[in-house]
Amino acid sequence: MGILVQKFGGTSLSTAGAREHVIRHVKRELASGYSLVIVVSAMGRRGEPYATDTLLDWAVQNGDALPDREKDLLMCCGEIISATTLCGLLVNEGILSTVLTGAQAGFVTDNSYGNARILDVRPERILRELREHKVVIVTGFQGQTEAGDFTTLGRGGSDTSATALGAALRADMVDIYTDVNGILTADPRIVEDARPLTVVSYTEICNMAYQGAKVIHPRAVEIAMQAQIPVRVRSTFSETEGTLVTNPEGFRDIQNGIVDRFVTGIAYVSNITQISVECPEGNGTGVQLQIFKSMADNGISVDFINVTPTEALYTVFDDKSERAITVLQEQGLRPKSLSGCAKVSVIGGGINGVPGIMARIVEALSSQNIQILQSADSNTTIWVLVKKEDMVQSLRALHTKFELHR
Ligand code: ADP
Ligand code: MG
Repeated sequence: MGILVQKFGGTSLSTAGAREHVIRHVKRELASGYSLVIVVSAMGRRGEPYATDTLLDWAVQNGDALPDREKDLLMCCGEIISATTLCGLLVNEGILSTVLTGAQAGFVTDNSYGNARILDVRPERILRELREHKVVIVTGFQGQTEAGDFTTLGRGGSDTSATALGAALRADMVDIYTDVNGILTADPRIVEDARPLTVVSYTEICNMAYQGAKVIHPRAVEIAMQAQIPVRVRSTFSETEGTLVTNPEGFRDIQNGIVDRFVTGIAYVSNITQISVECPEGNGTGVQLQIFKSMADNGISVDFINVTPTEALYTVFDDKSERAITVLQEQGLRPKSLSGCAKVSVIGGGINGVPGIMARIVEALSSQNIQILQSADSNTTIWVLVKKEDMVQSLRALHTKFELHR
């Protein structure tokens, strides 16, 4: 039997009851003969003692001056506590197990603290521990620079740790355990009748993840796709197999697999500000270049860009809008802005070239009196910008319109 990577998210480890479920999944896979590598996130959510956000709040409460390098060191503690907790429980069950930090597990990253990029995974130590028949528990979300400094991989980084390990170890499968029954057609916290997808392609879920479906990190999917390692997203709290993420060719082997799906799902990103700048007739291009260059120079990432000869329209995150406006005003421009917007996306490989999709979107939203502030499309996604207070209703209306509950 091969290697199986299991990743357990924050809510899967935060209570004693949840950890019992984790142990059940570990025992089941050991019994079926897998060598197990387990990646863990920090336990719980903001407010709970060892959650990543709680640790960051702690740094803020203590003067808010902690440098980025040291902040990463602090954040690494959350996963270390999770990993050692799980190790204790497994050993107590008579299961030989050991904990490796990101560094010990072989994660080499650059030094972009808080959002480091994996440069290499050197899994020799893990392989050695596996040969000694141990379950290896790896602290997710972290690595080490060549110089030996601890780094963290950014939000959702444990997913990336898991698939990067899957790739480096040539694992049979990476199982992402979380608090929902797989990847659903929309965030079930908002769309109650969202339905779990049995099987999705890497590309479909990558698009959904980039558009805000935070059930799995898009980078994690890309790594799995490059290495051609299948990923399953599934619930810690049940025995259902969740969603299989694979190549479309893999669909044929799966009973009830849906090959030709029209729309896969709906996703959202909130807290965005729409900025519009009028450009003078005759020198539109010059001003546009100036605008986007100044955003880049100030490290402000822009999205949803619509450029016409007389206008530049784009979005930034709300927390960057003040800075963006100042930068524009300093150049003598007079930007207009609308904060508190949300980007709602309809995602599906099947929408390419199908007539009438936009009409259906407009129909669904206008029937709810929702104003579309801006829209754009690619061959896999249609985006609409709406006011944040219209977001929930938009998601529900579109979900129903495209019959995703069926
Ligand atoms: P973990 O701590 O296990 O990594 P996350 O909170 O990062 O968990 O991801 C799981 C959450 O993702 C779910 O609770 C759900 O609210 C949210 N989510 C957003 N979009 C989707 C989707 N399309 N399918 C499933 N879950 C989604
Ligand atoms: Mg997550």
